[in-house]
Amino acid sequence: MKEVMMYCVSCCRMLPIAQSHSLYKTGFYKHNVPAGVCKECQSALLVHRK
Ligand SMILES: [Zn+2]
Repeated sequence: MKEVMMYCVSCCRMLPIAQSHSLYKTGFYKHNVPAGVCKECQSALLVHRK
């Protein structure tokens, strides 16, 4: 089973989809790579937002 990747728009990295917090259903970085926000960035966002 090949690894599915996602692209984090916040840190601009390609990450395994297991690391994603949320994915944009309408946004794709590449043909088969969904764009979203990774868990790391999501927790950073929460800290900043407070
Ligand atoms: Zn990120």
